[in-house]
Amino acid sequence: MSLTMADRDGFIWLDGKLLPWREATMHVLTHALHYGSAVIEGERIYEGRVFRLAAHSARLRNSARLLDYELPWSREQIDEATRGVVAANNLKSGYVRPIAWRGSEVMGVSAIGTSVHLAIAPWTQEGRLSVQAKPGGITVTMAQYRRPAPDSAPGTAKAAGLYLICGIEKDRALNAGFDDALMLDWQGRLAESTGANIFLAIGNSLVTPKPENFLDGITRRAVMGLAERRGWPVEERAVMPEELDGASEVFLCATAAEIVPVGAIDHRRYQVGPMTRALIDDYQKLVRQPDCEGFGESAHLAAA
Ligand code: PMP
Repeated sequence: MSLTMADRDGFIWLDGKLLPWREATMHVLTHALHYGSAVIEGERIYEGRVFRLAAHSARLRNSARLLDYELPWSREQIDEATRGVVAANNLKSGYVRPIAWRGSEVMGVSAIGTSVHLAIAPWTQEGRLSVQAKPGGITVTMAQYRRPAPDSAPGTAKAAGLYLICGIEKDRALNAGFDDALMLDWQGRLAESTGANIFLAIGNSLVTPKPENFLDGITRRAVMGLAERRGWPVEERAVMPEELDGASEVFLCATAAEIVPVGAIDHRRYQVGPMTRALIDDYQKLVRQPDCEGFGESAHLAAA
């Protein structure tokens, strides 16, 4: 296995060309590196297909727009490039990381005058990028930083800069012996973990915070669809942290992590219960369906 992400065999798609892995580099004076102007996606390959590819490509374009720039590739072109680079690397399962960013023509806070770049890198998944499931559920602690208010940051974008506080909180949680941290929003309501959305089973309903200014996960949407297909009520609403006391099951969900049962949030303990287990099974079937590359339950992203 390769030692670092930079030193691997394979191909990366960069600005329209397939490059040998080690040649996909950028200059140290790149706007995105200094001022956080990159936007990213995280995708999973199952049976050689990228689950909800169209939705991810559309969300990437939309994230760039939320940062006031336009990608010079259509959603269809990004889909095609992604299929091409997955095939070039001969991957039947794995992870894909698209990243778009502002270039190195000008150095300063303003990105005006910089070019827009796009790279797409797929690899065999080793471990899970955000959080790894454990048999009895993962342990979570409450984060200190909160997700920003809508008038503080474009929180619905999957933007590199917005991960600054997620990274600090994730490291703080890991160093304290937890697997992840749960972030509140600017009003003290439950928001998301450092790299995943959250669901609570309360009574016979599934409850999930409304993503007013945090990432509206594609996995989250898929889970809501699966629950509805089982006839389970889904409540998408403001959720106060006190409601964690009355939940019978809690799980996180994200593209890389899939569905991850939570065994504890600080002093609270949870079982890996029947709703979580059923959704884990349903999700594994969903991601392997032949038509899985479309928008699915994330049809709201189709406009991008
Ligand atoms: N919130 C954050 C902060 C994330 O990083 C992710 C993973 N991309 C999610 C939620 C879940 O999003 P998705 O289901 O689209 O992967």
